[in-house]
Amino acid sequence: MKYRRILLKLSGESLMGDKQFGIDNQRLSVYAEQIKEIHDLGAEVAIVIGGGNIFRGVQAEEGGMDRTHGDYMGMLATMINSMALQAALESAGLQTRLQSAIEMKEISEPYVRRRAVRHLEKGRVVIFGAGTGNPYFTTDSAASLRAIEINADVILKGTRVDGIYTADPEKDPTATKFDVITFEDAYSRGLKVMDMTAFTLCMENDLPIIVFDMDSPGNLKRLMDGEQVGTIVRN
Ligand code: UDP
Repeated sequence: MKYRRILLKLSGESLMGDKQFGIDNQRLSVYAEQIKEIHDLGAEVAIVIGGGNIFRGVQAEEGGMDRTHGDYMGMLATMINSMALQAALESAGLQTRLQSAIEMKEISEPYVRRRAVRHLEKGRVVIFGAGTGNPYFTTDSAASLRAIEINADVILKGTRVDGIYTADPEKDPTATKFDVITFEDAYSRGLKVMDMTAFTLCMENDLPIIVFDMDSPGNLKRLMDGEQVGTIVRN
């Protein structure tokens, strides 16, 4: 295993699969199988999942709702996704714990860093729900923050594209993919890896990010085996 402790970031939208909204159970179980595969090889796995398939704070603002109110709704959306993923991981035979940044004691533990680390050491998959618990942040920021807090070796950002390109490959056919790029280079080229809060947190704390295509089964394991998959962003 190239990495011992990882933080996997999945977007809410990726859970939709081919659906227009909500959660695709088939997609969830495919993810769960892949996560189980690397866990069985000894990886310690923490996960942050987005909520964009259900609700985004900016949406609320457009409708005239207070932004902070909408952001809290977005955080609750991440909890729905987290619970769905938790169930899928458990059906795949993994032990899991869900920790929420907003207290919801009937359904999850509160976020306690030391406890999270202990769970990981005991082989439990830990899901961090409700983002950072603060409005005006994203789940990418939550992923960066938690990854740094638990001393993860890397953030694996699962997306629909297979890495970072010189331009948007869906619009520009001449775009080429980077295997490796530095934070500085990605910034000066204006490439979008994560939002700036998340990006600078990783850069300043020397935490590499790998952007890869999570929807091609096997990629996660290949990446953990040290194969060249996706794009790595590092100092
Ligand atoms: N959110 C927030 N604080 C956080 C994380 C998330 O306010 O720390 C809200 C924000 O409104 C965001 C929504 O939750 O739009 C869903 O998260 P995100 O957009 O990051 O999900 P993804 O794009 O990964 O599906």
